[in-house]
Amino acid sequence: MATIKTTGIVLRRRNYGEADRILDIFTPGLGKISAIAKGSRRPKSRLAGHIEQFSLTNFLLAEGRIWYIVTSAETEEHFGLDQSLEFIESVSYLTRLTDRFVPREEQSAEIYNLLLSSLRQLSGGKVGLLLRQFEWQLMLKVGFQPELRFCSHCSGQLDSTALGLCPTTGGALCPVCLRAEPIHVPIQPNTLKILRLFERAPIQLSAKIQGNQTVNQELERVTKAFMESILESSVEPKLVH
Ligand SMILES: [Zn+2]
Repeated sequence: MATIKTTGIVLRRRNYGEADRILDIFTPGLGKISAIAKGSRRPKSRLAGHIEQFSLTNFLLAEGRIWYIVTSAETEEHFGLDQSLEFIESVSYLTRLTDRFVPREEQSAEIYNLLLSSLRQLSGGKVGLLLRQFEWQLMLKVGFQPELRFCSHCSGQLDSTALGLCPTTGGALCPVCLRAEPIHVPIQPNTLKILRLFERAPIQLSAKIQGNQTVNQELERVTKAFMESILESSVEPKLVH
């Protein structure tokens, strides 16, 4: 039986049978996979302590009939230990979001790297606008290309006095199209600037930005509206947590 060596982030785990656990692991090469850690709930198991949720672990896996089988595991970094509740909530949010947007067993090294660098930033106590940029970049990496420089409906010029974003047309709207499109999120020019920055800046930068309250609220409303629109049109089943 072929053995696969891979690093992976443990997104979730659940008990199975008398002493086993099923892990959902996000790997750079295999994508999101499930693996069974047999006997890992027994106190003397060699796997116990190395398959915690939110850990970055080096795995040796064997191919099984339904799941991969964990033959060895060694944790390299752990993102959930000795941290505040707020931190755990942020990490849990990022991993849940990744779980929802990434299809199973589809190679997604870019999203893996995005998640890993975000977890490291959070671990270092840096939050800022990281969650918002994570959401935005996750959408970009699953193929969503918002139009933020011209009107996403008529390709006309944007106007900083009347700006809004629309999930249906896929981006910003000019004043004329804004009036015709009832479902849009009005935003300030600063919010649009930050979204443009989100597209290309490394995640380390957004962790250092503290936007004002209005900008933060607008960013949250806009990214949530776009994420919902993408998930609704997706054929992937919605996961229940
Ligand atoms: Zn327009």
